[in-house]
Amino acid sequence: MSKPKVGFYWCASCGGCEEAVVDLAEEILGVVEAVEIAFWPVAMDFKRADVEAMRDGELAVTFLNGAIRTSEQEEMAELMRRKSQVLIAFGSCSHLGGVPGLANLFDKEAIFENDYRTVPSVADGDGTRPLEETKVREGTLHLPAFRDTVRTLDQTVEVDYYLPGCPPPVRLVREALAAILAGKLPPKGAVLAPDVALCDECPRKPSKPDKLLIKEFKRPHQITLDPEECLLAQGLLCLGPATRSGCDAACISANMPCTGCLGPTGRVRDYGAKALSAIASGLDANVEEEIAALMDGVVDPVGTFYRYSLPASLMRRKVRPAVEGKEGERT
Ligand code: SF4
Ligand code: SF4
Repeated sequence: MSKPKVGFYWCASCGGCEEAVVDLAEEILGVVEAVEIAFWPVAMDFKRADVEAMRDGELAVTFLNGAIRTSEQEEMAELMRRKSQVLIAFGSCSHLGGVPGLANLFDKEAIFENDYRTVPSVADGDGTRPLEETKVREGTLHLPAFRDTVRTLDQTVEVDYYLPGCPPPVRLVREALAAILAGKLPPKGAVLAPDVALCDECPRKPSKPDKLLIKEFKRPHQITLDPEECLLAQGLLCLGPATRSGCDAACISANMPCTGCLGPTGRVRDYGAKALSAIASGLDANVEEEIAALMDGVVDPVGTFYRYSLPASLMRRKVRPAVEGKEGERT
């Protein structure tokens, strides 16, 4: 009997999600035994033409990581969707936009102006920019179009499941593979991780006070941490109250606060708003000036509360300035 075919692909990604697959270590041998890896260009010599030659739905499952920024990534997302029975958004970037999604604070023009003209490491500064078409003696060279806005995978094509995390914890990858191989996937649209907040599985939960009284935000290098006490109670901005569990509190165990990579629990529409509200409810401040002074201690609020989820948020991106005859827009 032929084995089910599986694909892995990456879009706007750092490569960490591919490492998460490799982190299965020897368990990957069991996976290879049960499935045929039919497309994984990071690890093996596959070409886009190999997928194009497949019939629609030939891949049983595709794990696609990375956000969607360029025309090539849109094309690949559409191709993988067509060729896959089940498409899984793998990792924060694919799920919620991830760290590359913070670029939605700028548009293409601002990014190109900075990266190719004003950034100090550009030596000649002659303003040369990547072009979608370049004529050379041998013909025309093409580069993918760079879009204004970073999108999540499900803002591009229909997605069946989400494997959250930056990168997804090995335990969740293992459990998802087991569910796929046993044909026991939950209803379509599910996030393949527990639907409870991280605080519920955190070993420091017993020391988290019912009523937090945060007087000042501190950063990990500014204090000597108690290795047992709740980090939020010690003044570190830990986003465990707003973040889905499933990581076995790996960062907390290393004395680092949760930064929210597994995204929100199922009932939350906007992760950053939920995180902000969870933290705000623990402030020991009642009047506006006190609250503002305390929040001044949050370095980079967007990068803190929307680090992994700006494209998936209600805001999606910074509004473009209005131009004459046209309102500012967010698309
Ligand atoms: S989710 Fe994290 S590990 Fe995966 S590609 Fe994005 S930044 Fe890298
Ligand atoms: S706030 Fe952070 S350290 Fe405290 S219980 Fe929740 S996850 Fe653990």
